[in-house]
Formats: sequence, C-alpha cells, structure tokens
Amino acid sequence: SGQSYDDNNIFAKILRGEIPAHRVYEDDHTVAFMDVMPQAPGHLLVVPKSPSRNMLDADPAVLANTVQVVQKLARAAQEAFEADGITIMQFNEPAAGQTVFHLHFHVVPRHEGQPLKP
Ligand code: 5GP
Repeated sequence: SGQSYDDNNIFAKILRGEIPAHRVYEDDHTVAFMDVMPQAPGHLLVVPKSPSRNMLDADPAVLANTVQVVQKLARAAQEAFEADGITIMQFNEPAAGQTVFHLHFHVVPRHEGQPLKP
C-alpha cells in the first residue's frame, strides 16, 4: 500500500550533488541543508541518504537515526540562533502538506512573538 519512491525528487538530486544546496551537516547516513524558502531564520531540513518517500515507508532504524540527528541539530540551532524554542515539522503525502517526496524533517528556530512565515 502507499506510494513508491521516485528518485527524480529534488532532495534526491541534492543528495547526488546534481543541484546545489547550503549543506550544514553531513555524516554517513544523513545530510542537513538550509530550506530555500525559510519560514524563520535558520530553517533547515534533515534528510536521510537512504531512499524513502516519507515516514510511512521508512525503515525504523533509518528513522531512529535521523531523529537523533534532528535532536543534535535542533540543539545546535537553538544555540546558534539564540532561539526561544524549536519547531520540528514532518509531512506525509500531499493531503498533509508534503511537497518533496524524500523523507525529511524541518528544524525551525523560533522566537517569542514571531510566527512562522507562510
Ligand atoms: P514539505 O514536503 O516538507 O512540505 O516541504 C519541502 C520543503 O523543501 C519546503 O519547505 C521547501 O521550501 C523546501 N525546498 C523545496 N525545494 C528545495 C530546494 O531545491 N532546495 C532546498 N534547499 N529546499 C527546497
């Protein structure tokens, strides 16, 4: 059930180095880069290198590893941006707002009284 993975998605192209991105973190399994349309300063995306469409089809071990990187980068972003908080977002399928079909987590530094940009 569910949709399959299509390696023509934009994050697959970034992972292959076919299009540029402002990378801020990389390890054997994971890359993070800045979102091109940030909803707040410091908005970044955490992306496992292995192919999955979203959380629904992801290998649980990949998911667990990716979430550990999310935590690491959320802590780093909180320091770097002197954030009052961090929003983590993750969308699955178009009905839920997913537009890029390679699993990713948004890490968004937040400041008191500053709503996310649409
Ligand atoms: P989602 O699928 O989680 O709803 O949204 C995908 C996110 O990827 C959006 O926040 C969008 O701004 C970002 N995005 C889309 N295309 C690119 C791109 O080519 N490079 C980067 N760095 N971010 C992108």
